[in-house]
Amino acid sequence: MPTVRLHDKEFELFIPESEVHAAIDKLAGELRAKYQGKRPLFVGVLNGAFYFAAELVKRLDIECEITFVKVASYHGTRSTGRVSELIGLNEKLEGRHVVVLEDIVDTGNTVRHIMDSLLEHHPASVSIAALLFKPDAYKQDIPIEHVAVRIPNDFVVGSGLDHDGLGRNLPGIYRIINTHA
Ligand code: 5GP
Repeated sequence: MPTVRLHDKEFELFIPESEVHAAIDKLAGELRAKYQGKRPLFVGVLNGAFYFAAELVKRLDIECEITFVKVASYHGTRSTGRVSELIGLNEKLEGRHVVVLEDIVDTGNTVRHIMDSLLEHHPASVSIAALLFKPDAYKQDIPIEHVAVRIPNDFVVGSGLDHDGLGRNLPGIYRIINTHA
């Protein structure tokens, strides 16, 4: 089992890149069927969603737009629930079908904040698409309609996700090895 050290933590391969790609293939099929002819606006949440956004949109042979926003929401290895304003949204959302692209949905605090901000602009619809979803950690009632991979409540890196800046470039998903177990 390949392992990697990032700062002070050890991670092991959890989901190989081929499986991540297969899950994104399936998700792209869902989104194609739902948004064909609606010219959706995909809003990727930086930094983590850059990988997911690129892998997803290259599989979507429909008319669509893609943009990115940034929220400061997370430090270290546990979700803090702290969020700030949405930065970088210049598109008009009124009447648009918006699909938020998240690297990972954990407690859902970030999604709640993004959803509240986007709804102020009166889009026709907003849905969430996530590369990874931790159902056991989720505390919101917003449906996460489109999920590539559901994972247990472990800290993961790779495919865009980092541990204090490192690991975003790792292919596949790596899970933290609990050295206290
Ligand atoms: P939430 O607001 O849903 O609790 O957390 C969302 C954010 O927390 C994600 O966008 C991500 O930045 C961070 N996060 C939550 N779980 C993980 C994880 O397992 N690994 C990494 N790298 N980030 C995580």
